[in-house]
Amino acid sequence: MPLSYGSPFTVLVVDDQEAIRSALTLELRQVGVQTVWQAGSGEEALEVFSAKRPDLVLLDIRMPGHDGYWTAQKIRDAEPGNWTPIIFLSGMDRDEDLWRGIEAGGDDYLVKPVTPTVLAAKLRAMQRLLGMQRRLVAVTEELNLANQKLNELVERDPLTGLVNRRGMDRLLYTEIRQAKRDRKPLTLMLCDIDHFKRYNDSAGHVEGDICLQRISNMLGQICKRPSDVAARYGGEEFALILPDTPKSGAMTFARALTQMLSSLKLPHPDSPTGPLVTLSGGITTCVPDDSTSPETLIMRADEALYAAKAQGRNRFFSFEFQLDTIEQLQG
Ligand code: GH3
Ligand code: MG
Ligand code: MG
Repeated sequence: MPLSYGSPFTVLVVDDQEAIRSALTLELRQVGVQTVWQAGSGEEALEVFSAKRPDLVLLDIRMPGHDGYWTAQKIRDAEPGNWTPIIFLSGMDRDEDLWRGIEAGGDDYLVKPVTPTVLAAKLRAMQRLLGMQRRLVAVTEELNLANQKLNELVERDPLTGLVNRRGMDRLLYTEIRQAKRDRKPLTLMLCDIDHFKRYNDSAGHVEGDICLQRISNMLGQICKRPSDVAARYGGEEFALILPDTPKSGAMTFARALTQMLSSLKLPHPDSPTGPLVTLSGGITTCVPDDSTSPETLIMRADEALYAAKAQGRNRFFSFEFQLDTIEQLQG
Protein backbone atom coordinates (compact mmCIF):
# COMPACT_ATOMS: atom_id res chain seq x y z
CA MET A 1 0.00 0.00 0.00
CA PRO A 2 2.07 2.95 -1.29
CA LEU A 3 2.01 6.14 0.73
CA SER A 4 1.80 9.54 -0.81
CA TYR A 5 4.31 11.89 0.75
CA GLY A 6 3.65 15.59 0.42
CA SER A 7 7.34 16.29 0.15
CA PRO A 8 10.19 13.88 -0.63
CA PHE A 9 10.63 11.62 2.38
CA THR A 10 14.07 10.17 3.06
CA VAL A 11 14.99 7.24 5.28
CA LEU A 12 18.29 5.97 6.67
CA VAL A 13 18.36 2.22 7.27
CA VAL A 14 20.99 1.04 9.77
CA ASP A 15 21.65 -2.69 10.12
CA ASP A 16 24.85 -4.70 10.18
CA GLN A 17 23.34 -7.37 7.91
CA GLU A 18 23.37 -6.49 4.26
CA ALA A 19 20.42 -8.82 3.52
CA ILE A 20 18.20 -7.06 6.05
CA ARG A 21 19.20 -3.61 4.76
CA SER A 22 18.32 -4.64 1.21
CA ALA A 23 15.01 -6.19 2.22
CA LEU A 24 14.01 -3.09 4.19
CA THR A 25 15.10 -0.80 1.38
CA LEU A 26 12.92 -2.76 -1.01
CA GLU A 27 9.96 -2.59 1.35
CA LEU A 28 10.43 1.13 1.83
CA ARG A 29 10.53 1.65 -1.92
CA GLN A 30 7.36 -0.38 -2.26
CA VAL A 31 5.56 1.87 0.20
CA GLY A 32 6.61 4.92 -1.76
CA VAL A 33 9.84 6.15 -0.14
CA GLN A 34 12.05 7.33 -2.98
CA THR A 35 15.34 7.93 -1.20
CA VAL A 36 16.78 5.30 1.12
CA TRP A 37 20.34 5.45 2.48
CA GLN A 38 22.03 2.53 4.15
CA ALA A 39 24.63 2.17 6.88
CA GLY A 40 26.19 -1.02 8.19
CA SER A 41 27.42 0.24 11.59
CA GLY A 42 26.82 2.91 14.22
CA GLU A 43 29.77 4.98 13.04
CA GLU A 44 28.71 4.80 9.42
CA ALA A 45 25.16 5.70 10.46
CA LEU A 46 26.43 8.87 12.11
CA GLU A 47 28.41 9.85 9.03
CA VAL A 48 25.47 9.32 6.69
CA PHE A 49 23.11 11.03 9.14
CA SER A 50 25.29 14.16 9.34
CA ALA A 51 25.82 14.29 5.59
CA LYS A 52 22.27 13.51 4.43
CA ARG A 53 19.95 14.54 7.26
CA PRO A 54 17.27 11.92 6.60
CA ASP A 55 13.66 12.45 7.69
CA LEU A 56 13.60 9.13 9.56
CA VAL A 57 16.09 6.57 10.88
CA LEU A 58 15.37 2.85 11.07
CA LEU A 59 17.95 1.60 13.53
CA ASP A 60 19.02 -1.95 14.36
CA ILE A 61 19.85 -2.46 18.03
CA ARG A 62 22.34 -5.31 17.96
CA MET A 63 25.37 -4.50 15.86
CA PRO A 64 29.04 -5.39 16.30
CA GLY A 65 30.96 -2.49 17.88
CA HIS A 66 28.66 0.35 18.83
CA ASP A 67 25.05 -0.76 19.19
CA GLY A 68 21.81 1.01 18.27
CA TYR A 69 21.38 2.61 21.71
CA TRP A 70 24.78 4.30 21.36
CA THR A 71 23.96 5.36 17.80
CA ALA A 72 20.59 6.85 18.81
CA GLN A 73 22.25 8.86 21.57
CA LYS A 74 24.89 10.18 19.16
CA ILE A 75 22.24 11.12 16.61
CA ARG A 76 20.36 13.08 19.30
CA ASP A 77 23.62 14.80 20.34
CA ALA A 78 24.34 15.67 16.70
CA GLU A 79 21.14 17.70 16.31
CA PRO A 80 20.53 19.71 19.48
CA GLY A 81 17.21 21.54 19.35
CA ASN A 82 16.15 19.35 16.47
CA TRP A 83 14.42 16.06 16.20
CA THR A 84 14.59 13.31 13.62
CA PRO A 85 12.34 10.35 14.36
CA ILE A 86 14.20 7.12 15.16
CA ILE A 87 12.49 3.71 14.98
CA PHE A 88 14.40 0.84 16.55
CA LEU A 89 14.37 -2.48 14.74
CA SER A 90 15.26 -5.56 16.62
CA GLY A 91 14.83 -9.25 16.88
CA MET A 92 14.63 -8.76 20.62
CA ASP A 93 11.09 -8.40 21.83
CA ARG A 94 11.41 -8.21 25.60
CA ASP A 95 9.67 -5.30 27.34
CA GLU A 96 13.01 -4.09 28.77
CA ASP A 97 14.45 -3.84 25.25
CA LEU A 98 11.57 -1.65 24.19
CA TRP A 99 11.97 0.48 27.32
CA ARG A 100 15.70 0.90 26.80
CA GLY A 101 15.19 1.83 23.16
CA ILE A 102 12.75 4.61 24.02
CA GLU A 103 15.03 5.76 26.87
CA ALA A 104 17.98 5.95 24.46
CA GLY A 105 16.07 8.49 22.37
CA GLY A 106 14.05 6.28 20.08
CA ASP A 107 10.49 7.19 19.11
CA ASP A 108 9.15 3.76 18.33
CA TYR A 109 10.16 0.14 18.30
CA LEU A 110 9.55 -2.57 15.74
CA VAL A 111 10.28 -6.26 16.07
CA LYS A 112 11.89 -7.91 13.04
CA PRO A 113 10.74 -9.17 10.67
CA VAL A 114 8.55 -6.18 9.91
CA THR A 115 5.59 -6.65 7.59
CA PRO A 116 5.11 -4.02 4.86
CA THR A 117 1.73 -2.99 6.29
CA VAL A 118 3.14 -2.32 9.76
CA LEU A 119 6.12 -0.50 8.26
CA ALA A 120 3.85 1.67 6.11
CA ALA A 121 1.62 2.47 9.10
CA LYS A 122 4.59 3.48 11.28
CA LEU A 123 6.02 5.61 8.49
CA ARG A 124 2.73 7.40 8.10
CA ALA A 125 2.53 8.11 11.84
CA MET A 126 6.13 9.36 11.96
CA GLN A 127 5.60 11.50 8.91
CA ARG A 128 2.60 13.12 10.60
CA LEU A 129 4.69 13.86 13.71
CA LEU A 130 7.49 15.22 11.57
CA GLY A 131 5.06 17.53 9.79
CA MET A 132 3.81 18.88 13.11
CA GLN A 133 7.35 19.36 14.37
CA ARG A 134 8.33 21.27 11.23
CA ARG A 135 5.30 23.51 11.52
CA LEU A 136 6.23 24.15 15.14
CA VAL A 137 9.79 25.06 14.17
CA ALA A 138 8.51 27.39 11.44
CA VAL A 139 6.06 29.08 13.83
CA THR A 140 8.76 29.40 16.49
CA GLU A 141 11.09 31.02 13.98
CA GLU A 142 8.36 33.44 12.93
CA LEU A 143 7.69 34.25 16.58
CA ASN A 144 11.37 34.83 17.27
CA LEU A 145 11.60 37.17 14.29
CA ALA A 146 8.47 39.05 15.37
CA ASN A 147 9.87 39.32 18.90
CA GLN A 148 13.16 40.64 17.60
CA LYS A 149 11.32 43.28 15.55
CA LEU A 150 9.18 44.17 18.53
CA ASN A 151 12.24 44.60 20.75
CA GLU A 152 13.80 46.87 18.15
CA LEU A 153 10.62 48.94 17.96
CA VAL A 154 10.38 49.21 21.73
CA GLU A 155 13.84 50.80 21.77
CA ARG A 156 13.36 53.11 18.76
CA ASP A 157 12.14 56.67 18.80
CA PRO A 158 9.50 56.90 16.05
CA LEU A 159 10.09 60.56 15.15
CA THR A 160 13.86 60.44 14.71
CA GLY A 161 14.60 56.74 14.23
CA LEU A 162 17.27 56.99 16.93
CA VAL A 163 17.50 54.70 19.94
CA ASN A 164 15.09 55.97 22.59
CA ARG A 165 15.64 56.50 26.30
CA ARG A 166 14.84 52.89 27.09
CA GLY A 167 17.38 51.58 24.58
CA MET A 168 19.91 54.11 25.72
CA ASP A 169 19.60 52.99 29.34
CA ARG A 170 20.18 49.39 28.34
CA LEU A 171 23.12 50.19 26.05
CA LEU A 172 24.74 52.50 28.57
CA TYR A 173 24.53 49.79 31.21
CA THR A 174 26.06 47.24 28.82
CA GLU A 175 28.85 49.58 27.71
CA ILE A 176 29.75 50.50 31.30
CA ARG A 177 30.17 46.82 32.12
CA GLN A 178 32.18 46.19 28.97
CA ALA A 179 34.47 49.19 29.53
CA LYS A 180 34.98 48.13 33.15
CA ARG A 181 35.97 44.65 32.03
CA ASP A 182 38.31 45.97 29.31
CA ARG A 183 39.57 48.86 31.48
CA LYS A 184 38.85 51.24 28.62
CA PRO A 185 37.52 54.80 28.75
CA LEU A 186 33.87 55.39 28.03
CA THR A 187 32.46 58.77 27.03
CA LEU A 188 28.90 59.94 27.46
CA MET A 189 27.80 63.15 25.80
CA LEU A 190 24.45 64.83 26.40
CA CYS A 191 23.45 67.41 23.79
CA ASP A 192 20.53 69.81 24.01
CA ILE A 193 19.25 72.09 21.27
CA ASP A 194 19.56 75.74 22.31
CA HIS A 195 16.39 77.77 22.62
CA PHE A 196 14.26 75.14 21.01
CA LYS A 197 11.09 76.35 22.66
CA ARG A 198 11.52 79.60 20.78
CA TYR A 199 12.07 77.61 17.57
CA ASN A 200 8.71 75.89 18.03
CA ASP A 201 6.99 79.09 19.06
CA SER A 202 8.22 80.85 15.93
CA ALA A 203 8.28 78.15 13.25
CA GLY A 204 5.59 75.82 14.59
CA HIS A 205 5.73 72.33 16.00
CA VAL A 206 5.83 70.61 12.60
CA GLU A 207 8.95 72.54 11.60
CA GLY A 208 10.30 71.79 15.04
CA ASP A 209 9.87 68.09 14.39
CA ILE A 210 11.70 68.39 11.06
CA CYS A 211 14.54 70.18 12.81
CA LEU A 212 14.75 67.37 15.37
CA GLN A 213 14.95 64.86 12.52
CA ARG A 214 17.77 66.78 10.82
CA ILE A 215 19.79 66.98 14.01
CA SER A 216 19.15 63.27 14.62
CA ASN A 217 20.35 62.37 11.12
CA MET A 218 23.50 64.31 11.72
CA LEU A 219 24.11 62.61 15.06
CA GLY A 220 23.50 59.23 13.45
CA GLN A 221 26.00 60.06 10.72
CA ILE A 222 28.69 61.26 13.06
CA CYS A 223 28.57 57.95 14.93
CA LYS A 224 30.83 56.17 12.48
CA ARG A 225 32.10 53.36 14.67
CA PRO A 226 29.62 50.50 15.05
CA SER A 227 29.83 50.74 18.83
CA ASP A 228 28.98 54.48 18.92
CA VAL A 229 25.31 55.11 19.65
CA ALA A 230 23.22 58.23 19.18
CA ALA A 231 20.02 58.24 21.24
CA ARG A 232 17.10 60.59 21.76
CA TYR A 233 17.32 61.12 25.47
CA GLY A 234 14.27 63.36 25.78
CA GLY A 235 12.36 66.01 23.81
CA GLU A 236 15.24 67.99 22.26
CA GLU A 237 17.99 66.26 24.16
CA PHE A 238 20.29 63.63 22.71
CA ALA A 239 22.84 61.28 24.16
CA LEU A 240 25.96 59.91 22.50
CA ILE A 241 27.48 56.78 23.98
CA LEU A 242 31.07 56.50 22.79
CA PRO A 243 32.88 53.36 23.94
CA ASP A 244 36.70 53.22 23.94
CA THR A 245 36.82 57.01 23.69
CA PRO A 246 39.24 58.90 25.97
CA LYS A 247 38.93 62.55 26.87
CA SER A 248 41.00 63.64 23.86
CA GLY A 249 38.80 61.57 21.53
CA ALA A 250 35.67 63.03 23.09
CA MET A 251 36.96 66.56 22.42
CA THR A 252 37.73 65.71 18.81
CA PHE A 253 34.26 64.23 18.49
CA ALA A 254 32.59 67.31 19.98
CA ARG A 255 34.59 69.56 17.65
CA ALA A 256 33.57 67.50 14.62
CA LEU A 257 29.96 67.61 15.78
CA THR A 258 30.03 71.39 16.15
CA GLN A 259 31.56 71.76 12.69
CA MET A 260 29.07 69.40 11.10
CA LEU A 261 26.17 71.26 12.67
CA SER A 262 27.42 74.66 11.53
CA SER A 263 27.93 73.32 8.01
CA LEU A 264 24.28 72.22 7.97
CA LYS A 265 23.31 75.89 8.48
CA LEU A 266 19.89 75.14 9.95
CA PRO A 267 18.22 78.54 10.40
CA HIS A 268 16.80 79.31 13.83
CA PRO A 269 13.98 81.87 13.56
CA ASP A 270 14.36 83.29 17.06
CA SER A 271 17.56 82.39 18.87
CA PRO A 272 19.40 84.85 21.11
CA THR A 273 22.54 82.78 20.32
CA GLY A 274 22.56 83.56 16.58
CA PRO A 275 20.81 82.93 13.27
CA LEU A 276 21.48 79.16 13.21
CA VAL A 277 20.39 76.19 15.31
CA THR A 278 23.06 75.44 17.90
CA LEU A 279 23.67 72.73 20.46
CA SER A 280 25.07 72.71 23.95
CA GLY A 281 26.74 69.58 25.24
CA GLY A 282 27.98 68.07 28.47
CA ILE A 283 30.69 65.45 28.33
CA THR A 284 31.90 62.94 30.83
CA THR A 285 34.67 60.40 30.28
CA CYS A 286 35.90 57.73 32.64
CA VAL A 287 37.27 54.24 32.92
CA PRO A 288 34.30 52.77 34.80
CA ASP A 289 34.82 51.14 38.20
CA ASP A 290 32.43 49.61 40.72
CA SER A 291 30.99 53.01 41.61
CA THR A 292 30.07 53.83 37.99
CA SER A 293 26.43 53.46 37.01
CA PRO A 294 24.29 54.83 34.18
CA GLU A 295 22.81 57.27 36.71
CA THR A 296 26.19 58.66 37.85
CA LEU A 297 27.37 59.09 34.25
CA ILE A 298 24.14 60.79 33.18
CA MET A 299 24.30 63.05 36.23
CA ARG A 300 27.86 64.13 35.46
CA ALA A 301 27.10 64.74 31.79
CA ASP A 302 23.95 66.62 32.76
CA GLU A 303 25.84 68.85 35.17
CA ALA A 304 28.36 69.60 32.43
CA LEU A 305 25.50 70.37 30.05
CA TYR A 306 23.98 72.71 32.59
CA ALA A 307 27.34 74.50 32.83
CA ALA A 308 27.51 74.78 29.03
CA LYS A 309 24.09 76.42 29.04
CA ALA A 310 25.02 78.73 31.90
CA GLN A 311 28.20 79.81 30.15
CA GLY A 312 26.28 81.06 27.11
CA ARG A 313 25.20 77.93 25.13
CA ASN A 314 26.56 76.79 21.74
CA ARG A 315 29.44 74.98 23.43
CA PHE A 316 30.55 71.72 24.98
CA PHE A 317 31.83 71.27 28.51
CA SER A 318 33.56 68.50 30.34
CA PHE A 319 34.04 68.22 34.09
CA GLU A 320 36.81 65.76 34.46
CA PHE A 321 38.52 64.19 37.40
CA GLN A 322 39.07 67.51 39.13
CA LEU A 323 35.49 68.65 39.46
CA ASP A 324 36.52 72.29 39.62
CA THR A 325 38.04 72.20 36.15
CA ILE A 326 35.71 73.21 33.38
CA GLU A 327 37.00 72.50 29.95
CA GLN A 328 35.42 74.52 27.26
CA LEU A 329 35.66 73.35 23.72
CA GLN A 330 35.51 75.49 20.66
CA GLY A 331 31.96 76.80 20.57
P1 GH3 B 1 17.58 75.78 26.30
O1 GH3 B 1 18.49 76.50 25.38
O2 GH3 B 1 17.77 76.19 27.71
O3 GH3 B 1 17.70 74.30 26.15
O4 GH3 B 1 16.11 76.20 25.92
P2 GH3 B 1 15.00 75.33 25.26
O5 GH3 B 1 13.91 76.21 24.82
O6 GH3 B 1 15.61 74.49 24.19
O7 GH3 B 1 14.60 74.37 26.42
P3 GH3 B 1 13.22 74.08 27.09
O8 GH3 B 1 13.45 72.87 27.94
O9 GH3 B 1 12.68 75.31 27.75
O10 GH3 B 1 12.26 73.69 25.90
C1 GH3 B 1 12.41 72.55 25.15
C2 GH3 B 1 11.42 72.58 24.05
O11 GH3 B 1 11.57 71.44 23.18
C3 GH3 B 1 10.01 72.56 24.52
C4 GH3 B 1 9.25 71.73 23.54
O12 GH3 B 1 8.33 72.49 22.86
C5 GH3 B 1 10.33 71.26 22.55
N1 GH3 B 1 10.14 69.86 22.20
C6 GH3 B 1 10.34 68.79 22.98
N2 GH3 B 1 10.02 67.66 22.28
C7 GH3 B 1 9.60 68.04 21.08
C8 GH3 B 1 9.13 67.34 19.92
O13 GH3 B 1 9.03 66.10 19.87
N3 GH3 B 1 8.81 68.05 18.83
C9 GH3 B 1 8.91 69.42 18.83
N4 GH3 B 1 8.58 70.07 17.74
N5 GH3 B 1 9.32 70.09 19.89
C10 GH3 B 1 9.68 69.43 21.01
MG1 MG C 1 17.02 73.02 24.77
MG1 MG D 1 15.96 70.49 27.16
